This record gives sequence, C-alpha cells and structure tokens, in this order.
Amino acid sequence: MLPTRRPRTGRARPGGRRRTSAPRTLSTELAALDWQLEGACRELNEELFFGPPQTIEQRTERAARIREAKRVCARCPVSQRCLGYALENEEEFGVWGGLSELERWELLAERRARRG
Ligand code: SF4
Repeated sequence: MLPTRRPRTGRARPGGRRRTSAPRTLSTELAALDWQLEGACRELNEELFFGPPQTIEQRTERAARIREAKRVCARCPVSQRCLGYALENEEEFGVWGGLSELERWELLAERRARRG
C-alpha cells in the first residue's frame, strides 16, 4: 500500500534543489514514510493540502483551504512526524504537520538564524 501523501522530495524541484544524502532503497524509503499510513489526511483529497493543480487560488479561498487542512492536522496522530519530515526535507508546497509552506519557511529561517 502506498502512502497517500506523495513524498515531494523524490522528484526534481524548482531550481533543482534536492536532498542528496546516501542512496536509499525503495523499501527503506517506504519504511521511512510509514507514518503516513496513520495520517488523518489519508483518505482525503490531496488538494485540501496542496491546493488545486494548475489553478491560482484567490487569497480568501486559499486561506479557507489552509484553515481546513490545519483542522485535519490538529487531530492527526502523526502530526509531529509529518512536520519533522517536511522540515527535514524542506518540502516547499502544501500543509504538513499543521503548518503551511510559509510557516515552515519562517520556522526554518528562524532555526538557521539561531544557528548563525
Ligand atoms: S499532520 Fe496533517 S498533513 Fe501530516 S499526515 Fe497528519 S493530517 Fe496529513
């Protein structure tokens, strides 16, 4: 069974930025993502978390969608692992672990600033 949330790190990203740690086998990759099987979003449409494809959302629609996605994350048993995964892999898009891409970007920027 495949995870519902496709790891975005498996493909090239805009700008070609991609984690290049030691090569991992497919089974290792899937095992590292097994928490997704317990995600509260498992049966939900991915668009709630990533937005509609090929469409520019209106600001109010986007805000409402993100609020709703965060409501799902708030009752998710694996939200910490999800957020950790997204931060570790610098996921650029979507709501992960209850944080939007902008919130994660700000969190990562704060961490980097603290490290100096
Ligand atoms: S925290 Fe949110 S995005 Fe992550 S698995 Fe749970 S419901 Fe899905």
